[in-house]
Amino acid sequence: MNKLVWLRNDLRVVDNTALNQACAQCQNNESVIACFIATPMQWHEHHEAPIKIDFIHRRLNELRHHFAELNIPLIVKEVADFSQVPNSISEISTEHQVDHVFCNKQYLVNEEQRDFAVGHLLAEKSIKLSVFDDDCLIPPGHVLTKQGDPFKVFTPFRKAWLNIYRDQLDVLGINLAVQAKPTPLPNTINMDFNKHEIPVFNYPAFNYPPCSSIDWAVDDEAIHQRLLTFCYEKAANYHEDRDFPAIDGTSCLSPYLAIGALSLRQCFHVLMTEFPECLEQPESGAFSWFNELVWREFYRHLMVAFPKLCCERPFHEWTQFVQWRPDDAGLKAWQQGKTGFPIVDAAMRQLKATGWMHNRLRMIVASFLTKDLLIHWQAGEQWFMSHLIDGDLASNNGGWQWAASTGTDAQPYFRVFNPTTQGQRFDPKGEFIRKWVQELKDVPDKFIHTPHLWLGAHSVNYPKPIVDHKQARLLAIDVFKQANELG
Ligand code: FAD
Repeated sequence: MNKLVWLRNDLRVVDNTALNQACAQCQNNESVIACFIATPMQWHEHHEAPIKIDFIHRRLNELRHHFAELNIPLIVKEVADFSQVPNSISEISTEHQVDHVFCNKQYLVNEEQRDFAVGHLLAEKSIKLSVFDDDCLIPPGHVLTKQGDPFKVFTPFRKAWLNIYRDQLDVLGINLAVQAKPTPLPNTINMDFNKHEIPVFNYPAFNYPPCSSIDWAVDDEAIHQRLLTFCYEKAANYHEDRDFPAIDGTSCLSPYLAIGALSLRQCFHVLMTEFPECLEQPESGAFSWFNELVWREFYRHLMVAFPKLCCERPFHEWTQFVQWRPDDAGLKAWQQGKTGFPIVDAAMRQLKATGWMHNRLRMIVASFLTKDLLIHWQAGEQWFMSHLIDGDLASNNGGWQWAASTGTDAQPYFRVFNPTTQGQRFDPKGEFIRKWVQELKDVPDKFIHTPHLWLGAHSVNYPKPIVDHKQARLLAIDVFKQANELG
């Protein structure tokens, strides 16, 4: 009998718990097989971006070679949606005489329901399904308050997370070295137990709108090199550079983490090897980067503790009373980067052109949509998801709800970013703005954040601000106050 590794958002050979376990449990006369099931209709329903699907497709074609080197065939199949996945896994299992399926857990409601259905069908055929915690460094459910409740705010979560990370992994029985060393494949994989002749050919494009992700390399060497270069050359200054979009100061690893081409353990391992003391140095750049990786964990833990977050519900119930405004023209101006606020427009155009956006800008444009325009955060969440190469429900929903004050921001709802001063602070000379809003390239530095005040504005084909920020801020605070009183 053989072992099947079912890949989902863990598209790597290195440090993949399910793959490791399958290889470890494979006997000499058995084989390991891997599979990936594409579900285009489901992706449509989840608003997955075409660029992300192209990225996954390219990564799978790359992975075939890595798996072939291990004598493991990678089968890629396409069905419509999650409801057809159980049959698909069952068919592959029957065809290849599989007695045990291995996969890494996905912590979202639809995905868990799918896995439950798969487990049920496989059990009827006496095929075992083993699901592993792999995506988080400390699995959801293990970081709790003294009362045993999930944390609702980041800073105490991080403190508790760190305590567990430092001291208690063994107590919890979590299979993780303290330095988060990536797990190598067991030696058995080198034995010639897989007898397949493995043809390596490219899988045809998925049935999804085409969009090229070619600017993002998909080979292991380039991905790992990006991680090394960031940790060796940029992490030390990360705390100073990370908020300036004109500086190449962040890792740009999010697309790889989103599809699991890179694991969080790999990131921690390289960071800790380069900066072994960084956890004791909260002012350092390395700690600051570490902190961001823990944000990723936080939002995943929240999804499990509060499944309503997967179901379009706000984190704070009272915010369901917020009177969001239907404003098609405002939404369109925001989506197209034509709001008349240069930093917002530059960011939105970067997203459309590249499928990626800098974190500071994600916060600015999210605040602008939800506070200045009072448009429902779900409209922004969906637009991001359908354009981001790193689209990730937990981080995206967390980021949107944080910015809209419906989520875990520890500050009250009257935090409203001023898009003009944010631009002045984080893109002082307008370098980033000029790159993406070509119309403004000749505007003097002094007016780059307020081009409508420049005397030469008439010569520039650029819109005037679509809202008065001061008034919009007061209105937003009032609308939130009313909702708060109702709730
Ligand atoms: P770095 O600064 O190098 O950080 C390293 C890694 O830490 C990132 O790759 C990411 O995995 C994680 N990380 C960093 N910041 C955050 C954060 N605030 N929340 C969660 N994880 C974080 N991130 C996504 O991966 N997918 C999304 O769909 C997504 N949507 C967002 C929507 C909004 C409104 C906001 C405010 C943030 C969103 N983020 C999302 C978080 C963050 O903006 C990106 O992870 C980051 O910009 C990616 O760039 P980087 O890899 O250079 O990050």
